[in-house]
Amino acid sequence: MLYKILDKNHHKEFLSNLVANVKMVGPKKKDDSCHDFTSIKDVDEIDTAYQKTTIPPAKKILFPSTENLVRFRLGETIESEGLLESSETVLFGINAWDIAGMNFLDRFFSTDFADENYIAKRKALTVIGIDTEPTETNFAHYMDSEYVIEGFDLYFTDLGDRFFVRIATAKGNALLDRFAHIKDIEENDLKDFNKYMNVYRKKFKLEINMKNFLDNFENIYDKKGVWEELAEKCYSCGSCNLVCPTCFCFNVKDDINLDLKTGQKMREWDSCMIPEYGLVAGEHNFRPSKENRLKQRYRCKLITYKEKYGKNSCVGCGRCIEACLAKINIAEDINAIKKEVNV
Ligand code: SF4
Ligand code: SF4
Repeated sequence: MLYKILDKNHHKEFLSNLVANVKMVGPKKKDDSCHDFTSIKDVDEIDTAYQKTTIPPAKKILFPSTENLVRFRLGETIESEGLLESSETVLFGINAWDIAGMNFLDRFFSTDFADENYIAKRKALTVIGIDTEPTETNFAHYMDSEYVIEGFDLYFTDLGDRFFVRIATAKGNALLDRFAHIKDIEENDLKDFNKYMNVYRKKFKLEINMKNFLDNFENIYDKKGVWEELAEKCYSCGSCNLVCPTCFCFNVKDDINLDLKTGQKMREWDSCMIPEYGLVAGEHNFRPSKENRLKQRYRCKLITYKEKYGKNSCVGCGRCIEACLAKINIAEDINAIKKEVNV
């Protein structure tokens, strides 16, 4: 990792150069409550001072909510052609926990099977991260996601009069060489950066306790009443899945055109919290109850991938807490599970 300094008075010039020369996606104010990552045509559209998490998360750039995978033509034989869409894009202004979310998806979509569509988009993406202020529902610090060391090309930290820039790849370095006036760091820059990180970590007010979570979870896995109580108010709406930066479930279906001869095989986001998710032929449902679905969701987020990749698939962004009309709160539930075992 290389460290450099970009003075604040050169920052806008850097962004203007990017907007003028590359395809860029960045955070733009959508309404009073949230921002969205959209195409940036004018540097003044970029608003990195977002606190409310962007919904849907930036994962939509790599894993769109609907995506055509194969085009086909029906005849005496079936002709088919794989569809792969990707173009060089700079994603600017994504924060650490959303980069951690993309890092999880990178592992998921390249381990066991390689998802060509996802991988092509990821290879064409240059990622420039920045720190943003955590909301009151954010517990990223407790999921080791408030600071990332991979998954980006450049990462900007605001030190007041200057940005501390972490350069993780040759691609990021080339972008700075081409478009920015940067300086070498001095000793006080590194000290200021460390000081900044100590203050930044204290801004994550929602504390959770993941110590011994796996054992605690296993202890109450079949305990009567616990899951019924946690899931009591759940509407099975699936919003928590749709806003999550690490949810990866999708459905694949055939979309036939009006000529009844051509069509496309497409995928769309799915949700493990809706009753139809576990429904198979013969009307059998593997997860008919909402308490069972919630238990499975927490297991997936907090245990399954910790065991498989050594990292939780929950990055603590807090979006599902904000999106849930029933006020089901994964952070409170993590602490409640611990309490349940200790009682
Ligand atoms: S958003 Fe809330 S109510 Fe909807 S499925 Fe998720 S936990 Fe249940
Ligand atoms: S489970 Fe909730 S808090 Fe965790 S990453 Fe997904 S949306 Fe964020």
